[in-house]
Amino acid sequence: MKLSYTEKHSKDVRFTIRVTKQLFSKHSKFQQIDVMESKEFGRFLTLDGLMMVTEKDEFIYHDMIVHVAMATNPNIHRVLVIGGGDGGTVRELCRYDSVQHIDMVEIDKMVVDVSKKYLKQTSCKLSDPRVHLTIADGLPFVRNKNDAYDLIIVDSTDPFGPGEGLFTKEFYGNCYTALSEDGILINQHESPYYEKYAQSMKRAHRRIAETFPLCRVYQAHIPTYPSGHWLFGFASKKFDPILDFGPEKQAQWNALGLDTRYYNTDLHIGAFALPTYVKRLLEEPEQEATR
Ligand code: SAM
Repeated sequence: MKLSYTEKHSKDVRFTIRVTKQLFSKHSKFQQIDVMESKEFGRFLTLDGLMMVTEKDEFIYHDMIVHVAMATNPNIHRVLVIGGGDGGTVRELCRYDSVQHIDMVEIDKMVVDVSKKYLKQTSCKLSDPRVHLTIADGLPFVRNKNDAYDLIIVDSTDPFGPGEGLFTKEFYGNCYTALSEDGILINQHESPYYEKYAQSMKRAHRRIAETFPLCRVYQAHIPTYPSGHWLFGFASKKFDPILDFGPEKQAQWNALGLDTRYYNTDLHIGAFALPTYVKRLLEEPEQEATR
């Protein structure tokens, strides 16, 4: 029997991967968790039928969710990761000696356990002594934090189900307070292409822009995400990811000698150059998201 994984990218579009083996399938308290194996993408993790990581292209997502902020401010010591149960974001953060403490708050322990068992490529640094894992909802976790982090990375699922609270104005306001005076907030910002994702992207952007003095959007090409075109949000109290990333800062990051397969300091600047239709979407007034 031929196995395959099919994800609905829009009402009329499906994305299918030939699967060689189903490794795990279970419903946790929060979501349906599946791990499969394929020839093209290696092992991959899906939650509620949505692609989270594949062994082949996860480096793109994790490079871009971590290194843009780390290169913009070389003095990041305390980091909070919300979500990120597969461990890929923490793995990239652990490459910096300057990072002293990482709090990771993941709502679903089963995602962490399954990733440790089946996705060693992403979960390999979850046992680093600087990583402090809390199994909890990220929304209340940040509520009473004040000047506690230099960087917050929201590596969550889409704004449907457990991830919904992480796209609210209350949450962004709490992140603002939890950050130091030169703190940076990075979040996965959905895709501009298909209507449902574009609405989520616009809503998230507007709420962050209402909270942070500086709010930029950058992009990456992630083949297994809907449309392959994915955005990230860069919000900060002080640093501009382009104006504060001159030749000296670029040289400083390059001197670290980190061997990244997607991120580099030229791409850092280029990633903020957005297509015209995306710029227009980001400027449009908010409408109710269609589901
Ligand atoms: N790269 C991914 C993607 O496709 O966007 C995100 C990967 S990571 C697996 C997302 C994680 O966020 C999941 O493990 C999920 O359980 C976690 N998550 C969702 N809502 C959360 C919340 N409110 N608090 C903490 N973690 C949450």
